Amino acid sequence: MTVAPSDTPVVTRIAPSPTGDMHIGTARTALFNWLYARGRGGKFLLRIEDTDRARSTPEATQGILEGMAWLGLDYDGEAVSQFERAARHVEVAEEMLASGAAYKCFATQEEIESFREAARAEGKSTLYRSPWRHADPATHPDAPYVVRVKAPREGVTVIRDEVQGDVTIRNDQLDDMIVLRSDGTPTYMLAVVVDDHDMGVTHVIRGDDHLNNAARQMTIYEAMGWPLPVYAHIPLIFGPDGKKMSKRHGATGVKEYQAMGYPSAGMRNYLARLGWSHGDDEFFTDAQAQEWFDLSGVNKSPARFDTKKLENICGQHIAVMDDAAILGEIEGYLAAAGEPDLTSSQMTRLGAALYALKGAAKTYPQLIEKARFALADRPVDLDEKAHKQVSSVSNGILEELTPHLQNGSWEREALEAAVGKVMEAHDVGFGKVAAPLRAALAGRAVTPSVLDMMLVLGRDESLARIADFQGVCAAAE
Ligand code: GLU
Repeated sequence: MTVAPSDTPVVTRIAPSPTGDMHIGTARTALFNWLYARGRGGKFLLRIEDTDRARSTPEATQGILEGMAWLGLDYDGEAVSQFERAARHVEVAEEMLASGAAYKCFATQEEIESFREAARAEGKSTLYRSPWRHADPATHPDAPYVVRVKAPREGVTVIRDEVQGDVTIRNDQLDDMIVLRSDGTPTYMLAVVVDDHDMGVTHVIRGDDHLNNAARQMTIYEAMGWPLPVYAHIPLIFGPDGKKMSKRHGATGVKEYQAMGYPSAGMRNYLARLGWSHGDDEFFTDAQAQEWFDLSGVNKSPARFDTKKLENICGQHIAVMDDAAILGEIEGYLAAAGEPDLTSSQMTRLGAALYALKGAAKTYPQLIEKARFALADRPVDLDEKAHKQVSSVSNGILEELTPHLQNGSWEREALEAAVGKVMEAHDVGFGKVAAPLRAALAGRAVTPSVLDMMLVLGRDESLARIADFQGVCAAAE
């Protein structure tokens, strides 16, 4: 059997079935295909496998398009609808009929059932062996039929898989699979092969749950005399308990991860590491991943999803992302999570705070939480702990601090010196000055550093918040 020549440009694809939320396993497969093609100047295509009309929904297709967009997995050309190519699938089935590679099978359901029962009784294989495989077309009845492809019966089929190695399947375990149903519609197995061939797909990188399909699909390539793609069947993603990742383990939908506020660059990085490695590298950019990604680095055994690792990688990405990208993703996160938008003034304030906060958040909700002080409007609400700072002592400390803040330059060193002077004057440690300051600036006891908060808020806003808080202290006296 021929294989696509190695000097043809790489074409990969992701071929999701639009039957539910886009699974992170699908996202990881898409990512591997994207990395493989992009790193080789090749093409990455998207085909929506909507042949199963009963289970396919437009909402699921929309979810796939949104998931791909969020993950930054751009594909070449338009998304292809498999269903819309049905006429072409039928055409190929007819070509195989004409060449004798396929045949019309008139067996009824009852006949197939009784064949199976007899085989079971004799302890033989229950794979259906149609008597129509060798029938003379002149003997064909005028009755409904399906079209089956003649699978080889002797010898073996070897799938030369780039991840699994050579996988040998005994041909006596292959049946003559149906490519056209009795209502004339093409089956999924036919559609995949015809589409991959027509779309020029050179590398089929997909989940290893499709490994058995590969042997059957090869029959069609053989029958049509088409070059085989390179196969790479990648292990599925498992949950921490070593079982196939499912809802029992937590979120499985791509959308859910966006709604939890993970940055897409971090998600790509983590998903790339899930089943693939490049030395000891854990944290890397898209450009590095594209350069490094190769099928030889894909592990044969399933990777286990680890939320802690995902968060750590995400934190590292947020720390180095540029502010505009973070703000753009935060808007997407809020929409995905069903949270209210931030006002444009809040966005500006968040943007101003990012430099001080982005090194300390693993997700966008964590980042927003740290930015609460900047998003709040005056007078700042005091939480329970901040309320405990309401006292004459606090008032005195802030009174002492105010002139230093009014006069010095608004820079880290000067602000630090101002706090230092108050510590000296009151003979107290940093914490004693910082606590009322946190309450005044943020209305909370747990906040980013007071110096960062003052730098982000600016002189006027900081002094106004301090005065507001002093007013509360005075009223309580
Ligand atoms: N539609 C199949 C799935 O969603 C993928 C088939 C393939 O990649 O060949 O699992």
